[in-house]
Amino acid sequence: MTLFELLKKIKPFVQPYNKLVVATLALTAVGSFAVQINALILRYTVDNISRIMVNKEPLSTGFHLLTFISVVLLSKEIIYAFIQFGQKYYGEKLRIYISRDFSQAIVEKILTYRMAFYTSEVNESGKLQTRIDMGISSLTRLVQNFFIDIMPLFANAIVALVFIFMANIYIGLVSLAIVPIYFYVSQLQANKLKGFRRQMRSYRESKNNGLISLIDSITVIKSFVREPMEADKHQKIQYDMTENQLSTRKTSFLFDAIKNFLEQFGLVAVILLTAYFVLKGDMTIGAIMFHILLFNNVTAPIRQLHRIYDEINDAMIYSESFFEILEADEEAETTGAYIPEKIHGLIELKDVSFDYPNGTKALKNINMTIHPNQTTALVGLSGAGKSTVINLLDKFYQPTRGTIFLDGIDLADYNTKELRKNIGLVLQKNHIFKGSIEENIQYGNPEATHEAIMDAAKKAYIHEQIMDLPKAYQSDARLLSGGQQQRIAIARLFLKDPAIIFLDEPTASLDAIATEQIKKSLDAIKENRTVIIVSHSISQIIDADSIVVMEKGEVVETGTHEELYEKKNTYFTIFSAMANSLNLDKITQSLNS
Ligand code: ADP
Repeated sequence: MTLFELLKKIKPFVQPYNKLVVATLALTAVGSFAVQINALILRYTVDNISRIMVNKEPLSTGFHLLTFISVVLLSKEIIYAFIQFGQKYYGEKLRIYISRDFSQAIVEKILTYRMAFYTSEVNESGKLQTRIDMGISSLTRLVQNFFIDIMPLFANAIVALVFIFMANIYIGLVSLAIVPIYFYVSQLQANKLKGFRRQMRSYRESKNNGLISLIDSITVIKSFVREPMEADKHQKIQYDMTENQLSTRKTSFLFDAIKNFLEQFGLVAVILLTAYFVLKGDMTIGAIMFHILLFNNVTAPIRQLHRIYDEINDAMIYSESFFEILEADEEAETTGAYIPEKIHGLIELKDVSFDYPNGTKALKNINMTIHPNQTTALVGLSGAGKSTVINLLDKFYQPTRGTIFLDGIDLADYNTKELRKNIGLVLQKNHIFKGSIEENIQYGNPEATHEAIMDAAKKAYIHEQIMDLPKAYQSDARLLSGGQQQRIAIARLFLKDPAIIFLDEPTASLDAIATEQIKKSLDAIKENRTVIIVSHSISQIIDADSIVVMEKGEVVETGTHEELYEKKNTYFTIFSAMANSLNLDKITQSLNS
């Protein structure tokens, strides 16, 4: 991305704050004139003092002069303080507003993206967050630098140059000549440091990752006594990082020295030239101080040039992936126009195949009918494609081939949001948000009253346990046990009251007692709804009205438990394995004794 493209992309974010921009720029312009007052006053003072001394004027003239310059300088400082305050404050306000808008825009945008965006490899575990964070911070830094640092400095430099040229064209040319040399050297410096900084960033990332994985795997490290090996790994990164740090500093110092020399060289040239004009009688002696200060104002901003290069480079690198995310319109979720009045729940999959974006062929030519108001269990070994079916039915992904019908209408034609309002999903581990139990249940229907929330909790058989907690419904939901959290998720569904419910291994992460405890709430939520349950629990499978058996992405058997068991095929094998794993003989013995 070029700087021009970057600025074009930032423009819509700055536009709402045009007034702030104008105010900041106006203050910057006024400020850059105020900065030159010191130089003017110094020239005036030196010239007048030398006149007083040469003419041997009375002391009172000198006092008048001092009073005058004190008043002017003090007034200038007071005005300048206000200008600086306003300029910094408006600049900062702009930065904060724009940073807020960037964050909000990206969050609102990614929320509309399809599931494949979130599960794709480039966006996995924290990478997305890093890309967004880095993008926002470098963009806001760019805006901040531009309005708070760069603009005032450059405005000062330009005004100072104009003043120098007005004073004398030759001194103006000497001062101007140094600028392109400085630019060139700064660019060299920025280019040299770019490689180091990239390297440094990757060292930092691996160091952080290394530390996180070290903490995560501390039990394994200790049990295998691999502390020395881990310490060595860390030391390698640390040493490489140190080398890099030293090289960075060395380069920086070298360039700083060159730039300092250039500046001093320019300064000496300005002094010599001015002295020459003074001796020639073309200028008064005050011109020497005047030119030194003005020259200083010219060089001050370009001293910062390499930093500005760096930050613009950073902004261009990081904002690229930020804008890629912000503008990934192809990732937007697809939706149809059809809004059903009522959903009955007849689901038909016709020749449905599905490949995940990474190429995994998860479903192959599936045909399946799910009857309304019945519970259908999807049974199969892990990886058979059961969750994928649920993903497709929720419209998280679209079938690669074939069609899914709901109540006779192509699922693709449904308005996605309206469809999801009619679907409830309970997963193996349901997300419990930070907040109270009440808030967590209310997520099912933000308008629900406290009574409705309690009613839902009662239906999910969790109300009594909530009431036993010291803060009842206001207790922190994340302190609940796994089984209780699952029931909160079910209560949430009672509030949502969808016609269709998908239960994806709802008890897989629970122990036997918790599973037993949530059985009643699962039975309650299943009533009068179309339910698809994926489960490895024998009791939940037997309870289903019909069973679909899947193997390697295909449907291999469909029927009731009795029918499928009789067939002595795939279902029989899976069922027997499940039963054997329970060690039923011993259990029966124990129960009978
Ligand atoms: P089940 O629910 O029966 O255990 P899944 O539907 O989860 O099986 O998985 C079916 C196949 O799809 C598996 O091979 C799995 O590795 C793959 N799979 C699941 N989710 C994804 C994903 N987000 N991206 C790529 N492949 C996936």
